[in-house]
Amino acid sequence: MVKIMIAPNRYIQGSGVIDETAKHIAHLGSKFFFIGGPTALSIIKERVAASLGERSLVCHFEKFLGECTRASAAGLSDKAKEFGAEAIVGVGGGRAIDTAKAVSHELNSALVIIPTIASNDAPCSALSVQYSGKHMLDRFLILRRNPDVVLVDSKIIAEAPTRYFVAGMGDALATWFEAFTCTKSSAKNLPGGMATSAALNLARLCYETLMEYGVSAKLAVDQNAVTPAVEMVIEANVLLSGLGFESAGLAAAHGIHEGIHALEGTERALHGELVAFGTIAQLVMENYPKGEIDRVIGFCNAVGLPVTLKQVGVSDISLENLKRAAEVACMEGLTTHNCYFPVNAELVLGAVIGANALGEASLKALGH
Ligand SMILES: [Zn+2]
Repeated sequence: MVKIMIAPNRYIQGSGVIDETAKHIAHLGSKFFFIGGPTALSIIKERVAASLGERSLVCHFEKFLGECTRASAAGLSDKAKEFGAEAIVGVGGGRAIDTAKAVSHELNSALVIIPTIASNDAPCSALSVQYSGKHMLDRFLILRRNPDVVLVDSKIIAEAPTRYFVAGMGDALATWFEAFTCTKSSAKNLPGGMATSAALNLARLCYETLMEYGVSAKLAVDQNAVTPAVEMVIEANVLLSGLGFESAGLAAAHGIHEGIHALEGTERALHGELVAFGTIAQLVMENYPKGEIDRVIGFCNAVGLPVTLKQVGVSDISLENLKRAAEVACMEGLTTHNCYFPVNAELVLGAVIGANALGEASLKALGH
């Protein structure tokens, strides 16, 4: 049993750290190729350029729109090579970050990640999820190494729409339960080893942090305020969840997320929102005690994470449609199979229906 743990080389988090970008990335080279969505770039561009300018570091900002596909990464790789990039910097949310990772992998360059939203646990990992043009999963690209620097400006995160911050909690909500499942099944983590005690404890801490500080952090972010609770939850969403999922393993929550994601109507749902529902379905499938499931559903309702299929956008909840989701969730290679008992589409289907029913009941009890 070989244990493996991987992590980014440096993690930096704080209010206003974006103004110190050069200080934290200058050791990686002198030419930086930034990739980000238009909104993300508009937030950081001036401040980053000012910081890099002070040290005579050269930067290029490339606007990125669309999905993370092999084609989009190849196109950007050509541009980055032409520029002579020594480091790729991914700015924004999931897609831009995953694309920047793929580009840096292609160039074998240094990699910096600057998340402007804390909506998922992608920033710290060596994984880039690529989709085909039709919104279907293409492949999991495993990078040679984790990002060299992850730079998180808490003030920028707090000023972004709350929905992203909450979705990040949805992604982080799955981390402990998936990690725990992997220890029971001896499933391998992403680098292909067993989880270290460190990774497991970080996953556990991730869950406890959400339970303790999630609601107050959400309320503060509603007001664009950075409080100690917000800092704790940013760390949970970005660092703890990232280290936890990568070095302790993923399981059904993420596999079921892929299944639901394949259904019509979920195009606008965020990764973490789907994972939150996937987490409830995993707990149902693994027959967790009612108290634990109620705690998770209660948390979701308190912070505004979806607990029903309708809330993630699925309009057709016919058995036939849900069967399709269950089949996708059970596709070979998906982490649904990291469970400690054999999983098939029938089990997943039951779990999805059961989770949805619990979610509906919880909303009814709340008077929705
Ligand atoms: Zn995730």
